[in-house]
Amino acid sequence: MTKRRPLIAGNWKMHKTAQEARDFAMGFQEKVGDVTDIDMVVCAPFTALHVLKEELEESIVHIGAQNMYPEVKGAYTGEVSGPMLLDLACTYVVLGHSERREYLKEDDGFIAKKVKVALELGLIPILCVGENLALREDGKALAFVRSQVEKDLMELGPDELRKVVIAYEPIWAIGTGKTASAQDAQEMCSGIRSTLAGIAGSVAQEIRILYGGSVKSGNIADLMAQPDIDGALVGGASLEVQEFAQLIQNAR
Ligand code: PEP
Repeated sequence: MTKRRPLIAGNWKMHKTAQEARDFAMGFQEKVGDVTDIDMVVCAPFTALHVLKEELEESIVHIGAQNMYPEVKGAYTGEVSGPMLLDLACTYVVLGHSERREYLKEDDGFIAKKVKVALELGLIPILCVGENLALREDGKALAFVRSQVEKDLMELGPDELRKVVIAYEPIWAIGTGKTASAQDAQEMCSGIRSTLAGIAGSVAQEIRILYGGSVKSGNIADLMAQPDIDGALVGGASLEVQEFAQLIQNAR
């Protein structure tokens, strides 16, 4: 079986000023400087990325953004392009987060374009998928997530697909304190992997799948023990140095 390198990604959402980001980066590096068996990334607001570049560019902690426009430049007022993220030392970018799908009405066609452009530029997309509570209660969670994965990755060939990271985030578990049980999360991640196998054949075994939704230092170990869960996308618990560093230690 292919060994996939674990990844823990923090998603700060709309939190932290530049100074707060600097304080975090300094404290966090001290605590996780010896972690070489897990990839770590902090996905910050655009306005904090220049500070993270100064503090983390030379460190083992990677820098990520939370969105990107699917054109490299042009008349797109208020948007930020992939080359701009590369300039700020980003290696990852979160795409298709459920909050953007809901509040900014991003659809799968638009997200698929972003994923494609990110890969062309050499950024690693963390593609978020996940069902809401109504779909889960109707027994339609897997069918829904499968169709998101198929639509969002539609434009990619096998060499691009192997670089993608998928984050399975049930919407009902994000920021609510309700985590999917490790078994339910495994079942969904395994379903996602079989969908990937339908698209990409054996390359599916190389693609990292993260779980996201109220992940904390206290529940990460159970999640990581599942065969198809390769890490986590972490919101609230990534905001505090002590908790995020502990979560990473417990993930090992
Ligand atoms: C997220 O922001 O993607 C997330 C999963 O948030 P939380 O960990 O706070 O549920």
